[in-house]
Amino acid sequence: MSNTIQGLALINGQAVRGAGKPFQAFDPSKNEAIGPDFNAVDVAQVEEACALAGAAFDAFRATSDHERADFLDLIAAQILALGDDLIVRAMAETGLPRARLEGERGRTMNQLKLFAELLREGSWQDARIDTALPTRTPPRPDLRLRFVGVGPVAVFGASNFPLAFSVAGGDTAAALAAGCPVVVKAHSAHPGTSELVGRAVVEAVRQSGLPAGVFALLTGSGHGIGDTLVRHPAIQAVGFTGSRSGGTALMAAAAARPQPIPVYAEMSSINPVVLLPGALAKRGADIATGFAGSLVMGVGQFCTNPGLVLGIAGADFDRFAAAAAEALKPVPAATMLTPGIAGAYQRGEDQLAGQAQVDTLLRGQSAGCQGAPSLFKTTGAAFLANHAMSSEIFGPASLLVACKDLAELLAVIEGLEGQLTATLQLQDDDEADIAAARTLLPALERKVGRILANGYPTGVEVSTAMVHGGPFPATSDGRSSSVGTAAIQRFLRPVCYQNLPRALLPAVLREPNERGVWRRRDGVLTRN
Ligand code: NAP
Repeated sequence: MSNTIQGLALINGQAVRGAGKPFQAFDPSKNEAIGPDFNAVDVAQVEEACALAGAAFDAFRATSDHERADFLDLIAAQILALGDDLIVRAMAETGLPRARLEGERGRTMNQLKLFAELLREGSWQDARIDTALPTRTPPRPDLRLRFVGVGPVAVFGASNFPLAFSVAGGDTAAALAAGCPVVVKAHSAHPGTSELVGRAVVEAVRQSGLPAGVFALLTGSGHGIGDTLVRHPAIQAVGFTGSRSGGTALMAAAAARPQPIPVYAEMSSINPVVLLPGALAKRGADIATGFAGSLVMGVGQFCTNPGLVLGIAGADFDRFAAAAAEALKPVPAATMLTPGIAGAYQRGEDQLAGQAQVDTLLRGQSAGCQGAPSLFKTTGAAFLANHAMSSEIFGPASLLVACKDLAELLAVIEGLEGQLTATLQLQDDDEADIAAARTLLPALERKVGRILANGYPTGVEVSTAMVHGGPFPATSDGRSSSVGTAAIQRFLRPVCYQNLPRALLPAVLREPNERGVWRRRDGVLTRN
């Protein structure tokens, strides 16, 4: 497999030129376009990819868990086999440094392998058996439930994770694990990276003997492709990471279909960090350093970036603010992902700086594609009076809010929209901090998907217990996670089999339980 990027889409297992408008990738660190020329796919090509995905669904979902697990492992191996060409191209298209991208490649492979393990273990189908009770009045039939894939999934690659949340990223891994074919709309900010990874997936499909429709990669810039994709009748669910406007547009398109479908969109979050008084008094300077490191990680282009810090007004909070500004001051401007994201960041800084009752503690020199950290401060009362202050600024900017007391801090939390995370900085041995945290927890549980203590929200473990989700607008559906094995549930639905003869039952529901998969029999978990 050659690693030369040709500017092509991948449909029906073939590399094909899009029939639509030409476009090029862009190097944000050099501020120049990079070849080769790509072409957007046209409507007919979107429809072809979706129809093939629909046709491939039954054959793909009929594969065994072990076959799909091997397929996911093979995708990981094919991505690694792309070698340094993948890293070099991703660096050029995103401005992200080598170490970050090498780490992200590892995470991408580990996600695929984690889902492979989940399939081999087998309990993902959540098998349930209510045995027949023929002598009961009325008699109970034999009832058996398992989860199955929903059907072909449209995935929109994220600009800020060109590997781990793009073509073969978390959404794709979860959907393929569930037995759902995937049609990816490549993010126009990293089309070459997308083509390389897409070819690795296509090669894994071929080597696994799967129908070519199991995976397709659509090239293009412009919203028409995404809209056509989401409206195609073969598509049964959508995974998206990006802007609030993009996510809500796709939600509207999905809801307006003759058959509405679920959209799992991850959009906007400012991830409040709450500094409780005991922690602030004891560790204020350390917390300021840790917070600054978290804020500027990846030039602030993380969905879990700490964009809001809440504390009680006073000398300790002022000292924290000064220490945080001091820690951020030497951090130079760095390349952001795209001119559009860098421009939106600078407009966001300007808007916040221009609000009445907002003090600018630090404003770095952001210009062009370069984004520098900035830190702002306001009061709880001003924040509560001005909803605009709670808008996401995607980049290394944060707003400190000095509340007059815990009641006002709670009111600020109550006024927030849904968030991916909330962080509590607290002293475990300080009864007042624990009591304050206990007061805040019910509101935080209503508002966020992950509550963490004495850490920073950036850095999301890919594991079984992780939740990367939250109420709107953090995501379009706070009942699920887009990271970790729980992500598979977004692309599953339950089917119940009533009184079906053994020969017609799916393997996981048959007797005996040959694989020893965990099943819930008459309400009790058992491997029998
Ligand atoms: P984006 O503009 O929403 O684009 C994401 C993907 O969706 C792209 O493939 C884009 O197509 C497509 N798209 C966008 N709007 C669409 C629409 N109305 N209809 C159909 N398709 C649509 O996101 P982005 O470029 O990655 O970043 C822009 C902003 O999103 C950032 O400044 C930031 O505010 C936010 N963001 C948030 C997170 C988070 O996790 N919270 C992560 C990344 C970005 P094209 O490729 O043609 O543009």
